[in-house]
Amino acid sequence: DQLISQIAAGEVVERPSAVVKELLENALDAGSTQITVRLEEGGVKRIAITDNGRGIPPEQMPLALARHATSKIASLSDLENVGTLGFRGEALASIASVAAVTLTSRTADAAHAWEIVGSHNATPAPSSGAQGTTVDVQDLYFNTPARRKFLKSEQTEFGHCAEVVRRIALARPDVSFSLSHNGRTIDHWNVSEMAKRSAHILGDGFAEARLAIDESAGPLRIHGFAGLPTASKARADGQFFYVNGRFVRDKVLVHAVKAAYQDVLHGDRFPSYVLALDLDPALVDVNVHPSKIEVRFRDSRAVHQFVFHAVQRALALTSA
Ligand code: ADP
Ligand code: MG
Repeated sequence: DQLISQIAAGEVVERPSAVVKELLENALDAGSTQITVRLEEGGVKRIAITDNGRGIPPEQMPLALARHATSKIASLSDLENVGTLGFRGEALASIASVAAVTLTSRTADAAHAWEIVGSHNATPAPSSGAQGTTVDVQDLYFNTPARRKFLKSEQTEFGHCAEVVRRIALARPDVSFSLSHNGRTIDHWNVSEMAKRSAHILGDGFAEARLAIDESAGPLRIHGFAGLPTASKARADGQFFYVNGRFVRDKVLVHAVKAAYQDVLHGDRFPSYVLALDLDPALVDVNVHPSKIEVRFRDSRAVHQFVFHAVQRALALTSA
């Protein structure tokens, strides 16, 4: 069982940033409005994420650490209409099989917080703390040296973690985020709206040269900001696409945007954008890979056309 968990863990949590992503998604699924991410040594030594969400009642804490236990899906048909970010119920169990995990949580009606250390076999004990949850993950891959060997330098792993925080913070300007590394505050974003949050995260160059997009057609809606050619970069690090609230890197979408920019962007420049596509969950499969960064559209041609035309129209309006 332990071995199976560790193999599954390799899929779900291939590096510290994957742990950060899973924990952040859990915090958001719990309705949090304030999330703190503390990392040490690129996340390998420690990843501690505190939220102010609804918390986990003590009797459900062991279950939260058990494999294939999710509180988010009641039936198979729910799988078609996943409204939460998580739904497999394997993230916490996987993380707990390759790291030392302490879960501290307090629900709104509890007299105090509870804490559970290690695995689903442990028993929660009284603890202290405000409403919400802290998941403290220490010594990642301490028992799987082969995987640990694949990790890059502390700065590289931290960079991946910070990128995950940025992606999620961009999608949720209604939530405040703070990120620290080795005790130093790296980023802090207050609750805000998309225009401001994206300016904070993509920088002034983007804030000063971007077009707002908001178009709908049938079951499809695209909204967000597309940077003008002057806000383009030599590096492809300012491209954020979301599908139903999830950051994705999808060939169809990337191609559609690139094609829309084709006439206005020259050389080896990359457009900057923050775009969100919302559509009926039944029209898109997010169940492609555990890291859920890829999606599969029922009608990718229609999606491509829609995105291409929306971005192209916005760009044409300015050059006219
Ligand atoms: P999933 O998110 O797929 O349900 P996880 O393994 O990520 O599976 O989490 C297991 C369960 O633990 C969740 O279904 C949820 O009930 C609970 N949980 C995890 N993190 C939090 C959190 N930050 N706040 C409240 N509940 C949480
Ligand atoms: Mg989850």
